[in-house]
Amino acid sequence: MTTETTFASLGLAEPIMRAIADAGYTTPTPIQAQAIPQVLAGGDLLAAAQTGTGKTAGFTLPILHHLSTRAAAAPRPGRPRCLILVPTRELAAQVEESVKTYGKYLSLTSMVMFGGVNINPQLKALKSRVDILVATPGRLLDHMGQKTIDLSGVEILVLDEADRMLDMGFIRDIKKVLAVLPRQRQNLLFSATFSDEIRTLANGLLHNPKSVEVARRNTTVEVIEQSMHRVPQAHKRDLLAHLIRHHDWQQVLVFTRTKHGANKLAEKLIKDGITAAAIHGNKSQSARTKALASFKDGSVRVLVATDIAARGIDIDQLPQVVNFELPNVAEDYVHRIGRTGRAGSTGSALSLVDDEEMSYLRDIEKLIKRSIVRVEIEPGFVPPAKADLMSDERPPRPPQGRGGPRQGQGAGRGQPGGRNASGRAPQGKPATAGAKPAASRGAAPNSPAQPRQPRPQAALFSSKPGTRGH
Ligand code: AMP
Repeated sequence: MTTETTFASLGLAEPIMRAIADAGYTTPTPIQAQAIPQVLAGGDLLAAAQTGTGKTAGFTLPILHHLSTRAAAAPRPGRPRCLILVPTRELAAQVEESVKTYGKYLSLTSMVMFGGVNINPQLKALKSRVDILVATPGRLLDHMGQKTIDLSGVEILVLDEADRMLDMGFIRDIKKVLAVLPRQRQNLLFSATFSDEIRTLANGLLHNPKSVEVARRNTTVEVIEQSMHRVPQAHKRDLLAHLIRHHDWQQVLVFTRTKHGANKLAEKLIKDGITAAAIHGNKSQSARTKALASFKDGSVRVLVATDIAARGIDIDQLPQVVNFELPNVAEDYVHRIGRTGRAGSTGSALSLVDDEEMSYLRDIEKLIKRSIVRVEIEPGFVPPAKADLMSDERPPRPPQGRGGPRQGQGAGRGQPGGRNASGRAPQGKPATAGAKPAASRGAAPNSPAQPRQPRPQAALFSSKPGTRGH
């Protein structure tokens, strides 16, 4: 069904079609082909889709259609007709950017609301008409408490990246918001994973929902080349600097497990003459916005990020992701590598793996049902002399194993984030790990698995207990 669907066949209003054409989209992505007709039909929706699949347009386009083709019941300033709840500020800013992009030929208005910034401009904006409100739960609750927002006119509610909102401890906030919404409304729930907690939320929220799903990124994004180097933690910074120069990577997103590690790594790269910036929960709003904008416009080659800081970051055709450390939650690996190879472009994800991280690697390979190709480090790399090694090379181990508390994220209110720049990234040269494989390129020595073997889609909705510490 998804291959033949065209935007023209979806029945979206003409001004929306024009904006889609302006964005350069020719064909709906699979999640759009499935979700848009369901949302247009008016019922509730449960959608399994990760970021990078085109899910934002999957809900934004039909919402714009609904709001532009039917009149508001009682239009008043500060009384939105659609509420989109998202976990992070970055995502809030990006979703609202999409709303503006796709709604540019409509007279609908939108607003983004998140914490950590002065509330006054938000108060001012709420004195005008706001049709679509994109918000993180914490700041929305602040407005509810101050009675500066009226949610009694919400016709459509979206919970975007619901799994991540639960991970970040937003469930109580979400429930408080749900309690003040009108009973008669359309509910759309998007989640990358389906833990028992998400199911409980969905059961309480959705009425006879239609389910749509697209295969997880780790199964559909066959264009992502995944490889790893075995390397002691103490050599990683030097190796990374070497790889960036050796492969002439122009735009590389690097994940570290700790905020401190992100800072140290960025400092080291800058010392080595490689432009770099770090984003994580301790960085100010403006620092993060600036770092992201510089990375997007190409003035900074390396963006070092912790998991939450990078969540939802949308960079067109990002060619290279590096896991400086493997995440201790296997699903974060999938989120991380999903930053590259988006919307059909090619990408490469390289992991630097210390002996101590091998158990994480095994968890990841089990989750993605394939082995990650181990590649030997080129002979050109000279490990640093002992005296040059810094004393804090090893990141602190998480206090618990899988599912332990996440680092680098401001859970609950006031978590940092920011409106991102809408600049487009330059076309970075797609890069590969570049070195000779230790085993055949297809599979690790001890695994007969095919590297690009698809994962059964049914797994998405299996009731396997969440791996995220619920
Ligand atoms: P999302 O999953 O919503 O974060 O979207 C991922 C990327 O896909 C964004 O850069 C969108 O601009 C892009 N995108 C969304 N829909 C389409 C489409 N139909 N064709 C091409 N690119 C798209």
